[in-house]
Amino acid sequence: MVRATYRFREHTLTPDRTEDGDPTLYAMECKRCGQSSDGSTDPADGSEWAAGHLKANPGHLNYREVITRPYRFEPGAWLTN
Ligand SMILES: [Zn+2]
Repeated sequence: MVRATYRFREHTLTPDRTEDGDPTLYAMECKRCGQSSDGSTDPADGSEWAAGHLKANPGHLNYREVITRPYRFEPGAWLTN
């Protein structure tokens, strides 16, 4: 009987800074109504959007910053047994 053997490799999950990685995007989301700014590589754009959103919607005081950051597994050493 033939037994299949499998080898496994350690992988480490890290932010993807390779050219395959998407840029990190920052967006600001209003907790009151759920509207959010478009994702931007510049976090200041979200702050600006929030200021404008508050101006147009008095009382919308709470926001959350949503950060979209690409990750990838980096292959490491083969595990032996
Ligand atoms: Zn709002």
